Amino acid sequence: MAKRKGRDQVNWFDAEREREQTQLTQLIKKLRRAMEHKELILYYQPKVDMKRCQVVGVEALLRWQKADGTLVPPGDFLPHIEQHPFSIEVGDFVIEQALTQMEAWRKAGLKLPVSVNVSALQLLDQRFVEALVTHLRNHPKVEPADFEIEILESAAIGKINEAAKVIERCKALGVSVSLDDFGTGYAALDYLKRLPAQTLKIDQSFVRDMQGDDTDMTIVKGIMGLADAFGFNVIAEGVETPEQGRLLVALGCDIGQGYGIARPMPATDVHDWVSNWNCPSDWQFHG
Ligand code: C2E
Ligand code: MG
Ligand code: MG
Ligand code: MG
Repeated sequence: MAKRKGRDQVNWFDAEREREQTQLTQLIKKLRRAMEHKELILYYQPKVDMKRCQVVGVEALLRWQKADGTLVPPGDFLPHIEQHPFSIEVGDFVIEQALTQMEAWRKAGLKLPVSVNVSALQLLDQRFVEALVTHLRNHPKVEPADFEIEILESAAIGKINEAAKVIERCKALGVSVSLDDFGTGYAALDYLKRLPAQTLKIDQSFVRDMQGDDTDMTIVKGIMGLADAFGFNVIAEGVETPEQGRLLVALGCDIGQGYGIARPMPATDVHDWVSNWNCPSDWQFHG
């Protein structure tokens, strides 16, 4: 009886695995088609220097805009493909799109730093830096110093030496690197010493609750202290209210990004937004 049950369970696992495989294959097919039909697009979310009231750049965020108008967020499809080589193609496409957009903005008189998210698989892929060099060469109007990649703090875990080498090579190209969702990846402090990234992005979960939750406030302060000690820039994600912005500036975190400043927007809206943005009146820090 026990044996029988075991075999049934194996069969069930096999069937389940097969079903997942089929779903993945279908999703990849759909995404490939979406890419060809220009349904995979980038939205851009501003990052601002809250202290000086200046726009300092934008982050490119992937969206799947279906023919019927629905906008699918990346969390609904990227996690399913993140272990599959196809995700590297998507990542490559994102870099190409972002550089093309930067060049278009440049032509229109807007010089705007742009960051893109890079997955662990993409970052550690042998051809990553080579591909980046080619993309930059194809877009000579873009200054590499205006281009940045964001990697999850957790992306480097277990592969610290490899990740450090890639980051070093990006740096040599003039491209900067930030550690995204910082504080959630359980990276050892030793990582910070070894990863030649420039910026820590404080995860939005800490920013969201820092006013009501002493622990989150302590974490935000702790990250600020680490950044200071190790020489990183910091940026706060998930700034949803002017009060949060004010508090962050008081803590020494000048750069912020979040719905309270601007939601991610289509590329066509960015130029106007940048030209018209005024910081909230209670952010007049005069510093
Ligand atoms: P992320 O890189 O940490 O990006 C920030 C996410 O938080 C974005 O979600 C953004 O819309 C959202 N956000 C920004 N401000 C606020 C706020 O004030 N409150 C709240 N609640 N959320 C805010 P989005 O666009 O859905 O992206 C989710 C994640 O998907 C990104 O997190 C990033 O890890 C990943 N992702 C997005 N685009 C790409 C891409 O092109 N390649 C890769 N590999 N990953 C991507
Ligand atoms: Mg990011
Ligand atoms: Mg983040
Ligand atoms: Mg995130």
